[in-house]
Amino acid sequence: MQNHFHTIIIGAGPGGLTCASLLAEKGRDVLVLERNSRIGPKVCAGGVTWSGLARHLPDELIEKPFSSQHIRSGLQQTVISSPAPIISTINRESLGRWMAEKARCAGATILTGSPVTAITDREVRTRSCRYTYDFLVGADGSSSLVRRFLQVPTTYIGTGIHYQVPGNFKEMVWHLDPAQFATGYGWIFPHKNWASVGAYASKSAMAPKKLEEKLHQWMGKHDMNRKGLKPRAALINFDYRGYRFDNRFLVGDAAGLASGLTGEGIYPAVCSGETVARTIIDPAYRDTKLARLISKQQRHNRLLRLCGGNNYFARFVVESLVAALRLRLIHFSALEMGE
Ligand SMILES: Cc1cc2nc3c(=O)[nH]c(=O)nc-3n(C[C@H](O)[C@H](O)[C@H](O)COP(=O)(O)OP(=O)(O)OC[C@H]3O[C@@H](n4cnc5c(N)ncnc54)[C@H](O)[C@@H]3O)c2cc1C
Repeated sequence: MQNHFHTIIIGAGPGGLTCASLLAEKGRDVLVLERNSRIGPKVCAGGVTWSGLARHLPDELIEKPFSSQHIRSGLQQTVISSPAPIISTINRESLGRWMAEKARCAGATILTGSPVTAITDREVRTRSCRYTYDFLVGADGSSSLVRRFLQVPTTYIGTGIHYQVPGNFKEMVWHLDPAQFATGYGWIFPHKNWASVGAYASKSAMAPKKLEEKLHQWMGKHDMNRKGLKPRAALINFDYRGYRFDNRFLVGDAAGLASGLTGEGIYPAVCSGETVARTIIDPAYRDTKLARLISKQQRHNRLLRLCGGNNYFARFVVESLVAALRLRLIHFSALEMGE
């Protein structure tokens, strides 16, 4: 196999695969290195917003569409409805398989079981090979090696933890209650024969162990049995500090582009993967889509910081937010990263 590629992408998540497809479609020689032996599986609730990704996916990838969202807080509850689905659930493995197939058909080379162990200015090393590059894309998630190589620090990071609970769940539920989850929230995202039942909070607001305890309490209150089920957790990076570093780029969680407020990261990964590919193809490319996403993320992060210091103030803000949603003073899309 050849050892030099126009672009090497580390990580075959939604960010890396979007970038690979677009570059390969334009005839660029692309190598994607993925550490796992299978593409797709990822600790994730699998919720994709209509305004972000869902409307661009084929029907067969959608597990369940929801045109109503059940939102609860300590003092109130409301149901937000719309004629079109607001959020749909997808299976991450099926999404990964579909995206990888698209990238391969366009001409990208994808190597699984190939963890990148070292990076230099010209070269990327796996355990058994060395590859040189003109452009390098770090799409390697929240603990990105490329981000560390670029010496981009990470301060703002969150934890997501969930159980896959078997059963036929009907409602998509968000539970925003600072008494329970600080500035985070608990969720029930139903899939075909199971639901992702989990919680997310920024690490500075709640330590991962405490978040797990709070999730267990919350599941207990809802009579959800955890017996025989294993929790799965992962970090979500929302510390964005730029995506372009000369001929090296960061996308998705590696760039810290998830929402600090909700943990939504699939659409930001796809959106940034697209912008990075277009920028590599045409260095004069003027992005507007990712710029809008970044300003939305900054609004989410500002709200998070505002609530972070004081639990009483956080309760006031969360109850005001739920009241505003209930009274239709703000649209649900304010919580989403899509357009
Ligand atoms: C519990 C939980 C629930 C979530 N729920 C949602 C949700 O409902 N909706 C939503 O939008 N977001 C959700 N997220 C966030 C979402 O999963 C991520 O933001 C999204 O997957 C980021 O995509 P990415 O392509 O940037 O990175 P990833 O999907 O993390 O992909 C990175 C890839 O890089 C590979 N990799 C890492 N290091 C190396 C290396 N050294 N060499 C080679 N390969 C490497 C990994 O194996 C992985 O395949 C959730 C996260 C958690 C933890």
